Amino acid sequence: MILDRDGVINEDSDAYIKSVQEWIPIPGSIAAIAQLSMAGWTVAVATNQSGIARGYYDLATLDAMHERLRTLVAEQGGEVGLIVYCPHGPDEGCDCRKPRPGMLKTIAAHYQADLAGLWFVGDSWGDLEAALAVDSQPVLVKTGKGHKTLGKALPEGTLIFDDLAAVARALIHT
Ligand SMILES: [Mg+2]
Ligand SMILES: [Zn+2]
Repeated sequence: MILDRDGVINEDSDAYIKSVQEWIPIPGSIAAIAQLSMAGWTVAVATNQSGIARGYYDLATLDAMHERLRTLVAEQGGEVGLIVYCPHGPDEGCDCRKPRPGMLKTIAAHYQADLAGLWFVGDSWGDLEAALAVDSQPVLVKTGKGHKTLGKALPEGTLIFDDLAAVARALIHT
């Protein structure tokens, strides 16, 4: 499965997540990833990081945040799969920035996996649109921007959960 990062794994901020100190896990999200991983899921991450293009933080800082994520999940016995990020700004016209599905395709190519039906968990409209574009299963969590996204027209068939912990419970107990 594929996860968005900000607002799904860690607390989001309109001021961007610019340092490891500002990268704060949402309660239960680390355990959820660890449990999914231990139950056999590959958990990859696809995250828009236009703060790179805007100069708010650099790639080394982004890597440090992701090392922190990997370490925390490993401490609970799990593993984080491929983490793909889009470093571009919204006006650069890249293929990776969600709602475009480029990062999902990169992950699928890496694992030689089929995106059809694969769960993509996000908190923003762009996440759901990216999932829809490649026939993946759009999943919305109410953390981060999720509450705001709930007020928009959601793709048909979108699954909705309170948070990533609830996603993990649903998958592991069915
Ligand atoms: Mg997000
Ligand atoms: Zn991009």
